Amino acid sequence: MLELNHIRKDYKSGDMTVNALKDINLRFRDSEFVSILGPSGCGKTTTLNIIGGLDKYTDGDLKINGVSTKDYKDRDWDGYRNNSIGFVFQSYNLIPHQSILANVELALTLSGVSKQERRLRAKEALEKVGLGNQIHKRPNQLSGGQMQRVAIARAIVNNPDILLADEPTGALDTETSVQIMEILKEISKDRLIIMVTHNPELAKQYSTRIVRLLDGNIMDDSNPYTYEEAHKDAQAKRDKAKKEKDELKKASRKEKKAKKNKTHMSFLTALSLSFNNLMTKKTRTLLTAFAGSIGIIGIALIMSISNGVQLYIDRVQRETLASYPIQLQAETVDVSSMISTMMGQSDTDDNGSGEERDANKIYSYNILSDMLNTMVAKVTKNNLKEFKSYIESGDSDIQDYVQDIQYIYNVPINIYSSDTSKEVTQLNPNNMLSSFYGGQSMTGTDGSSNTMFSMGGTQTWTQLLGNQEVLDSQYDVVAGKWPENYNEVVLAVNENNEIDDYTLYALGLRDMDEFNKLYKAIMAGEEFETENTSYTYDEVLAKTYKLVFPTDYYKKNSDTNLWEDMSEDTDYMTNLVNNAEEIKIVGIIKPSEDAVNSSLNNNIGYTKELMEHIINKVNDSDIVKEQLANPEVDVFTGLKFKTADEPITMDDVNAYIATLPSEEAMATRAMISTMPEDQVIENFSKVLKAKENNASFEGNKTKLGVADLSSPSGIDIYATGFEAKKNIENIIKDYNKAQTDAGKEDNEISYTDYVGIIMSSVTTIINAISYVLIAFVAISLVVSSIMIGIITYISVLERTKEIGVLRSIGASKKDVSRIFNAETLIEGFVSGTLGILITLLLCIPANAIIYNVTTISNVAKLPVNGAIILIIISMVLTFIAGLVPAKMAAKKDPVVALRSE
Ligand code: ADP
Ligand code: MG
Repeated sequence: MLELNHIRKDYKSGDMTVNALKDINLRFRDSEFVSILGPSGCGKTTTLNIIGGLDKYTDGDLKINGVSTKDYKDRDWDGYRNNSIGFVFQSYNLIPHQSILANVELALTLSGVSKQERRLRAKEALEKVGLGNQIHKRPNQLSGGQMQRVAIARAIVNNPDILLADEPTGALDTETSVQIMEILKEISKDRLIIMVTHNPELAKQYSTRIVRLLDGNIMDDSNPYTYEEAHKDAQAKRDKAKKEKDELKKASRKEKKAKKNKTHMSFLTALSLSFNNLMTKKTRTLLTAFAGSIGIIGIALIMSISNGVQLYIDRVQRETLASYPIQLQAETVDVSSMISTMMGQSDTDDNGSGEERDANKIYSYNILSDMLNTMVAKVTKNNLKEFKSYIESGDSDIQDYVQDIQYIYNVPINIYSSDTSKEVTQLNPNNMLSSFYGGQSMTGTDGSSNTMFSMGGTQTWTQLLGNQEVLDSQYDVVAGKWPENYNEVVLAVNENNEIDDYTLYALGLRDMDEFNKLYKAIMAGEEFETENTSYTYDEVLAKTYKLVFPTDYYKKNSDTNLWEDMSEDTDYMTNLVNNAEEIKIVGIIKPSEDAVNSSLNNNIGYTKELMEHIINKVNDSDIVKEQLANPEVDVFTGLKFKTADEPITMDDVNAYIATLPSEEAMATRAMISTMPEDQVIENFSKVLKAKENNASFEGNKTKLGVADLSSPSGIDIYATGFEAKKNIENIIKDYNKAQTDAGKEDNEISYTDYVGIIMSSVTTIINAISYVLIAFVAISLVVSSIMIGIITYISVLERTKEIGVLRSIGASKKDVSRIFNAETLIEGFVSGTLGILITLLLCIPANAIIYNVTTISNVAKLPVNGAIILIIISMVLTFIAGLVPAKMAAKKDPVVALRSE
């Protein structure tokens, strides 16, 4: 039973208060057909809206089954509307972008009925109103009468207790009106129908009770429901309920329980509602999405390019640093501090004198003494043994920042041609060009690194980086494989599959005789044509060399028990080389196409295992063992080494003169006989000191190529990038500090940071560019968000009516905002995806242009996760931008929304 007690409704608009309902007292039977008649503006619609819970009464009380609604919360009203009320409007208020079936189903989706049952019940309701065969049509494909029947089907699909119809036939012709009234009458058999109408005839003909309103007051009621009658009905109802309850005890109560007073629209429903809405406005949706996607396109393009550039920069950094490692040397001059001293500005404010300076005069400032001081002071010895053990101890995380760490030893790699049929030919260290350099061997034993060879261009045998990943990224193997053994090496050709002729000679691929001819011809000022030659991969891969250890040149003379240098003895050398270990070229490598800076070119690359093998072999040889066992005695002469601070005596001078060729010796003796002794010693001390250097324990060790694996003469640290390089520098700094703190200043490491001097600004530039890009990104994001917000706002305005309808069938405020949120999410997804697709297309010409300008290929490349993130960002941003309009939609007064056109 429904009861209106002293209901009053005031509308406030500005200063005016409209007294729409003044004092309405009505009681309704559970099933009757009530018509409300009255002139326009008398408060009929307001009454219906209050009964339907769409509008709130100002004063009085609405009692539902005897329960006051004064304390009803929003969700109580939503549930009441969804479960107990069905609305039918004069203007049908169907949702235009949904099918007939979907329109009817909508009320059921709110009450959480399963999809199958929903469909079934909606069809049933449509059949009831005679539209069972039109369920897939859209509202605009139906006539007015048909649309009103859909509206009735929608109103009754939930099986409500009360059906409220506001001028349902107001827009229909008489014939259709009658049809509608017949349907309503049929429905009214088991429920309450309250209908507002302007047509007294229809009211009289179909309804069981007519209520007349005038100016917010009830004027007349043809069949009032008296208190006594209501009381009696209530008693009967209670009795009946009791009976039913007893019966129900046996049966299940599921049915009753299902009719919960809670409504809730699933997000999926919201999505499909919004999706259908967007689908009806495809063009606009696409245009909006496109407009929204422009921001995303901008970002995605910037992302693609900066990603590519970053990859390129990383690569350049890696490869640059692969050529320019941080070099720690056993003995070092700190060049950078020397440079900074030289470039150091004179500090005029602090010129020491503090005197005023004359603007028209030139003053001096002094750097020379500083420079010399640093030069003297900065020659430092590095304890690399200590540092190596520190690196290898794993106490630092230096390994995270390096591509490779190479240890360099002062040990020559003596390589000979395998072919000794004509003569013994030494290929490495190579002294082919020695004549050009004043008889000095250009290619020292190792100890220098790639930097040196790239400057000298004469170092043929180079140690490969130990990091296979880096090698793989820098080189393609064109034939064979990478070395897997100490006696395997690779040949690096340039990108055009060429090797320069110098290397060809050094590799023994060309005959040295030919070079000698060339050399002679050029010296004589003649023309000499060197023809171009080519080699098959197999020819190169068939090439082998012989490895001779530095100790192999010496043979023990059984008579003197001293070691003799046999390197000038042809038979000995031939025999030695023939029996030496073989080194094979197992692969040919070439800089990969996108390598920026390859560290090897025209070189033989060997593995660090080769160097270790040589060191171990040398240390294992008899001569080295003998020398190490007797550090005081020279194994070559059997004499004691001179210690540095021992003064030179006349005996030393005489001994030295004895070693000179006889004529020279005689002349020298004649000369010194006229001089006082101390003058002689003074004159010879320099020569003798230099001589001594060779004949020292250390000198012999160097001569024999003795090295301690734990104590390298150099450490080359190849950083993975500039950031990593900074970290490595910090690790060295920390190491130095730890050593100082431990009182071991001698262990501090100093080095020259060549790359740092050249490239320090690069990182700063990269960072600056990144910030500029980020600023652009931020701007385009803001712009696209604002646009989506505006468009959602327009959508809210457009769909006001729909909001009203949804509210009238029980959608809560949350449901409404959910619909618009779903719409913005869809819009965000579409614009994000569209943006990504367009970006992928734009990347093609962008790459072509970049390639044309820079020859760097495939720079613009959108990372997959970047694309996904951008779509998500687009969705999140449009969602946020749509929050305010969605909230506005939710806040809309359903009554006002329904009134809007
Ligand atoms: P009708 O009987 O024609 O359906 P209504 O119930 O729609 O009349 O309106 C009753 C009175 O209340 C009218 O004077 C109308 O102008 C006023 N009214 C209705 N809704 C509002 C509103 N939202 N704000 C202000 N006045 C309103
Ligand atoms: Mg009205």
